[in-house]
Parts: sequence; C-alpha cells; structure tokens
Amino acid sequence: MAQIIDGKLVSKKILENLSDEILFLAQKPCLAVIIVGNDSASKIYVNLKKKKALELGIESIVVEMPETVSQEELLEKIEQLNNDKKVNAILVQLPLPQHIDTKIILEKITPLKDVDCFHPYNTGHIAAGTKPYVYPCTPKGIIRLLEYYNIPVEGKHAVVIGRSNIVGRPLAQMLLNENATVTICHSRTKNLEEITKTADILISAVGQRNLIKANMVKDDVVVIDVGMNRTEDNKLCGDVDFYNVEKKASFITPVPGGVGPMTICSLMQNTFDLYKLQNKNQVT
Ligand code: NAP
Repeated sequence: MAQIIDGKLVSKKILENLSDEILFLAQKPCLAVIIVGNDSASKIYVNLKKKKALELGIESIVVEMPETVSQEELLEKIEQLNNDKKVNAILVQLPLPQHIDTKIILEKITPLKDVDCFHPYNTGHIAAGTKPYVYPCTPKGIIRLLEYYNIPVEGKHAVVIGRSNIVGRPLAQMLLNENATVTICHSRTKNLEEITKTADILISAVGQRNLIKANMVKDDVVVIDVGMNRTEDNKLCGDVDFYNVEKKASFITPVPGGVGPMTICSLMQNTFDLYKLQNKNQVT
C-alpha cells in the first residue's frame, strides 16, 4: 500500500509559517484577481483564493469584468494594476472568453507581478534553468510535496502527462532542472502505457478520469495526480484509478487533498514573495 501524500497537511504547515511572517508586516501583500464573465467554476476558484488570502492577512482585490469586455479594456485594467504600487501580484482567472487573446493578456502582466508565471520572462527563465521571479503555482506545489516527503528526483525517470503552459510544460522543465530524466506525454503520444510503465515518478495532468490504471504503472512508482474530474455522482476525482494504483505505488496523491491545496498555497506564497521582491529595502 502506498503512503498517501497529504497536500492538506503540507499546505497547512507552509501557510502557518507564512501567516506568521505576514503578521509582522506594517503593509500587507496584495493580490489582484481579474475575473471575466460568469463562469461558475471560475467564480468558485476566485472565491477560494479570496478566502484563503483573507485568512492569511493578504489583501485581495477582485476585479469583475463582463463577458463582453473588450481586449483593450482588459489590457487597460492590467496596465492600471501594473502601475498600482499597492498591488504586488496579478492573476487573470482563465479561461477568458473566445474573443480575447489570452496570450496577449497574460503577457501584459509585468513579470514582477506575474504570480502564476505566464510571462515569457518568467517561463523563459524556467526553460533556461535559471530563476524566474516566482514559479507557477501548481508545479511549485508538486515540487514542494516531493521535497516534503523526501522523494528523490535526481536521476529518476519522471513521466509528465500533459503539456499545458500552466502545469505539464513548466513542471517537466522544473523536474529537468532538478536532474530528473523527463518524458513528456500528450494526446498524440503513441503507446502511453509503454512509457508510463517505465516511470519512477508519474504525474498526470490531463483531466480524464481513470486514465491511469494499475496495469500502466510499475511497482513502487510515485504517483502525482493533478487531474480534477467528476464522478457520476458529482464527486471530485483525479486522472488516476486511485483504488487500484495505490496498491502498487510507493507514494500517491489523493484527489481531493493532494495537489489542489498546494496550488492555492503556492499562490499565497508567490504573492508574498513578489511583495518581498518589490519591497526589498523595507523587508528584512
Ligand atoms: P489542458 O490545458 O486541457 O491540458 C491537458 C493536457 O493533457 C494536454 O497537453 C493534452 O494533450 C493532454 N491529453 C489529453 N488527453 C490525453 C490523453 N488521452 N493522453 C495523454 N495526454 C492527453 O489542462 P490543464 O490546465 O493542464 O489541466 C489538466 C488537469 O489538471 C485538469 O483536470 C485540471 O482541472 C487539473 N488542474 C488541477 C490543478 C490543481 O490545483 N489540482 C491545477 C491546474 C489544473 P495536447 O496538448 O496534445 O492537447
């Protein structure tokens, strides 16, 4: 039976330390979140972020814009937040409506406030193996989980399924920077099972329930499940057939309670880190 990687516990510990550090600041870090339209899932995520920020003493500004907002208006709003000295971190909740070019919007956020690490300045640093201002929230959370459980990465074969800019691609590069041997799989990968069977660390970031079955993994694999899906009775589940894969793995993340809490934890940590970078002289 695998040891469960408890993202709730790890994130709680990290956030307790963070909250202590924030307590002594005269001026609080500030996270601005822009949400466009009425997508109910996006609203839930934004409310969770707002609630967590409040708990920690991080100020949050939620900018709500209508579905019909023009690209120009959105760019203007980001420019305003870029220039607002009080705002330390800017997050644009995705997805954006079809008429808006997400790439142009994300590149408008100044790299020093780019809390989810989408700007080419920051992604370029990750790709080059040098330091961005902050690392993207979900991959950062996964690396911290591996560190917390003393799971060695160097020299291991890490297989990352998914190549999105928010999870798979940066995570693969970060694991490479930690000296893993990395294979990236995606929807065009042939014989996925042949590749997953060779993984020492298997990370699935696809969004497909039961994609990873027990016959696709080797004994003692470390499994990180990023996927967020729903069962028939609307319960949250990941990409991995947890019940059967757990029997073969050495470590495994549950869904919920694995990667999810670490993502929001990294968002808070990143907001604080950007605050520190922007106030180098005031913060010891
Ligand atoms: P995404 O942008 O839709 O990317 C999904 C990736 O999976 C793509 O690279 C796609 O390949 C690949 N893929 C699709 N079907 C596949 C298959 N059958 N075999 C192998 N690869 C396949 O999604 P995302 O934003 O990265 O998110 C992935 C999942 O993680 C979602 O369930 C999302 O809700 C969840 N998520 C969770 C957290 C968290 O905090 N827990 C954070 C972010 C995302 P192509 O590139 O070829 O299309």
